[in-house]
Amino acid sequence: LPTRADLIDYNYAVAGHDGTLCDVDGELFIKPCTPAEIAFYESSVASHPDFADFMPTFLGTLTLDEQTNGSIEDAGAALLAQHNGTTVEEASAAILANGTARGGFPVAKHTVPEVVVPVKTGKRIVTNLAVVLENAAHGFIKPNILDVKLGIRLWADDAPEEKRIRFDKVTEETTHKDLGFRVAGMRVWQGPNATGPEIDEEGYKVFNKDYGRFSLNKHNVHEAFENFLFSELAGIDEELGKLVAQAFLADLDKIEKVLAGQESRMYSASLLFVFEGDGPALRNAMEEASRSPSTLVNGDEENSEEEDDEDETAGPKIYTVKVIDFAHAEWVPGKGPDTSAILGVRSVSKILENLAGI
Ligand code: ADP
Ligand code: MN
Repeated sequence: LPTRADLIDYNYAVAGHDGTLCDVDGELFIKPCTPAEIAFYESSVASHPDFADFMPTFLGTLTLDEQTNGSIEDAGAALLAQHNGTTVEEASAAILANGTARGGFPVAKHTVPEVVVPVKTGKRIVTNLAVVLENAAHGFIKPNILDVKLGIRLWADDAPEEKRIRFDKVTEETTHKDLGFRVAGMRVWQGPNATGPEIDEEGYKVFNKDYGRFSLNKHNVHEAFENFLFSELAGIDEELGKLVAQAFLADLDKIEKVLAGQESRMYSASLLFVFEGDGPALRNAMEEASRSPSTLVNGDEENSEEEDDEDETAGPKIYTVKVIDFAHAEWVPGKGPDTSAILGVRSVSKILENLAGI
């Protein structure tokens, strides 16, 4: 088992609770979570593969227990062994030979690696339980990241009265009410020379939760997407930004169709948009993709085994869109599609269509 000491703080979370972690290579994203979120990942992978394609790859669970012995490499080996049906020793050797746990990490879809899940039951949330996911921002040189929280009602049926009132106020005062989404947070790279009060030490402009809560409304919310997509200082001009918008739109269209065909309720889930924020790197990645068109599609769609193996050599990353945050999500057979989440996806699509000139 990995210990807490093997993990480092994940510095690219744009919204949500503190306490997210990653491994030193930045390939894994680890989030303290509830058993309900893990259950939703497991049931999605097992029974809703079309939807699971848009979730970050679910790699397993960990307990962030200080006393636990072992290392993150051991966890990688356990997952890989499970995936390939080998012994943990063989998997360890394979990882060492590849130099990194990524070597043959279980990226295949529709498998549920059942690693270490000593879930404690009881009324209280188990705070040392964590979900291990693919880090959606890995592989980008300067990832621009946007968290768009979906829905109108933001609380699940089990929420206490106090939370219902508090969240209904957020809905009422933000774009959730009319558009079915709000900008929860984002970070946008501002080029190599940027400095200033709103710029972090890496050169990112950070838009925190107050931005979407208090500065944006249904009339100006498109400005957030403009700020996200077009940053001249980073070398992302209108032409490039529009291409990214088109790429996002293609995925949103698929996500909308998947949601419309299934019966789920997701309260406070998000769309996580990531794209290459370094203009020259983005342009280069797009040029490479246009030479071999298969790499233009969102990283892990429709991947055959062989394509998975080529993941590392598939060319530089352009963008990805994921649905995340399933602490209050469930499948609801017989109750119909999640119309609020669909409204949110549609509203974002309309804004991107306008920005892309479609
Ligand atoms: P919370 O319940 O605290 O809101 P989220 O699942 O929304 O947790 O995650 C919080 C933040 O962490 C997100 O806004 C996003 O920036 C980042 N994040 C979540 N999942 C991933 C992932 N798989 N890869 C990269 N970043 C992620
Ligand atoms: Mn969240």
